[in-house]
Amino acid sequence: MKHILITGAAGFLGSHLCDRFLKEGYHVIGMDNFITGDKKNIAHLINSTQFQFIEHDITEFIKIDECLDYILHFASPASPIDYLKIPIQTLKVGSLGTHNLLGLAKAKKARMLIASTSEVYGDPLVHPQTEDYYGNVNTIGPRGVYDEAKRFQESITMAYHRFHGIETRIVRIFNTYGPRMRLNDGRVIPAFMGQALRGEDLTIFGDGSQTRSFCYVDDQVEGIYRLLLSDYTYPVNIGNPHEISIKDFAEEIIKLTGTTQKVIYKDLPVNDPMQRQPDITLAKKLLNWEPKVGRAEGMKITFNYFKSLTQDELYKSEH
Ligand code: NAD
Ligand code: UDP
Repeated sequence: MKHILITGAAGFLGSHLCDRFLKEGYHVIGMDNFITGDKKNIAHLINSTQFQFIEHDITEFIKIDECLDYILHFASPASPIDYLKIPIQTLKVGSLGTHNLLGLAKAKKARMLIASTSEVYGDPLVHPQTEDYYGNVNTIGPRGVYDEAKRFQESITMAYHRFHGIETRIVRIFNTYGPRMRLNDGRVIPAFMGQALRGEDLTIFGDGSQTRSFCYVDDQVEGIYRLLLSDYTYPVNIGNPHEISIKDFAEEIIKLTGTTQKVIYKDLPVNDPMQRQPDITLAKKLLNWEPKVGRAEGMKITFNYFKSLTQDELYKSEH
C-alpha cells in the first residue's frame, strides 16, 4: 500500500484530496493545525484504518515514522481575508513549512507536489495566463504575503529538485470551489451564497468588471491526481478557463438562489487582480485533463451544501 502525507488535510482542498487518495487505496496521513481548517471536514475519515491524522503546525519540525511515497503540500491560508488576518503565519507556512516538508521528502525519498496558485501571476498583464508568464506581483502590497510565499515555495521546490534530485511537482491552482468551503472565508462564492441564504444584499467589490474563472473541486482533484503521477517537474495550471466578470457572476447567483436582495458596491481591495483565466493547453497535452463540471452544475451542488449548514454555522461571523 502506498503512503501519502497530505498537509492542510482539514481544509477544503486537502480534505477532498484525502477522500480521493483513500478511494485509490492509499494509506493517507493527514496533517493540519486547524488555523483555517475544520475538524468537520475529516470527521467522516477518522474511523478509517487507512487514515491517520496528526495535529501539527508544519512550520515546526515534522516527524513521521512511516515510510512515505508521496507528499501533497496543501497547508496554507488561502482566502484573502485569512492571509490578511494572519500574514506572518502565511509567509511562514509557505517558506519554513515548505522547507520542512522538502527535508522530509528528501529523507523519505518521497515525491512531493506543492499547491501553488494563480496568484503567482499577480494582477496579470498576459491574458489568459500561461505557465511561462513571470507575473506582476506587488511584493509589499497586502496580498504580497501570500503571493510571495507561494513564489518562494516554487523556487525552493525547484532548488531541492535541482540540487538534491527530489522528485517534485508544482500545480498552479486557479479559483476552485465546492462543498466544504468555509461559508465566512470571504471568498466570493461563499460570500454571495451566504448573503443570499441570510437575506442580505450581495457585496460586489469595485465595479464588478474584474474577472475570475471558477473550477469545480472534483475537476481540480482529478488534475492534481494526474499531475502527481505524471513525470513533469515544471508548473502546470489547473483551473477552468470559463471566465466571468464578478458582476455577471452575482446575477447568476441571484438566479440560482432565488434571492430577492440586490447587489451593493464596496471598495475594491488593494491589488485585487483585474482578470484571471488559466491557459490549460499544457494540462490538456501532458495530463489529458480538462474540466468536466460546468459552472451551473457545480454551483448548484455547492449551494445545496451551504443550504445544509445549521443556522449557527450560517450566522457565525468571522469578521
Ligand atoms: P483552506 O484554508 O481550506 O485549507 C488550508 C488548510 O491548511 C487548513 O486546514 C489550515 O488549517 C491548514 N494550515 C494552514 N497553516 C498550517 C500550518 N502552519 N500547519 C498545518 N496546517 C496548516 O484552503 P484551501 O482552499 O483548501 O487551499 C489549500 C491549498 O491550495 C493552499 O495551499 C492554497 O494556497 C492552495 N490554493 C487554493 C485555491 C482555491 O481556490 N481553493 C487556489 C489556489 C491555491
Ligand atoms: N469579491 C466581491 N465580493 C465579495 C467577495 C469577493 O466582489 O463579497 C470579489 C473580489 O474582490 C475578487 C473576486 O470577487 O475580485 C474573487 O475574490 P476571491 O476572494 O473569491 O478570490 P481571489 O481574489 O483570490 O481570486
